[in-house]
Amino acid sequence: MIPLPLGAILTLFVGIPLLTTALLALFYNFRTLHRPGREKESIYECAECGHVYAFARNRPMDRCPRCSHLNDAVRT
Ligand SMILES: [Zn+2]
Repeated sequence: MIPLPLGAILTLFVGIPLLTTALLALFYNFRTLHRPGREKESIYECAECGHVYAFARNRPMDRCPRCSHLNDAVRT
């Protein structure tokens, strides 16, 4: 067996996995920051014609682009 100093063992088995986890967390954090528009969208389903549509505006009600019927947001 190859004798390793304590510092090298700590670096190998603690430092590298910790650094990898931190880099992955940063990567996923930045990836979700680049598309913030999806989270602001409200989804509507038209009660008149059944058309499903989404708008980036945060309104409780919005008009259907097909038939202009006023609908409640299904999910905001
Ligand atoms: Zn409609």
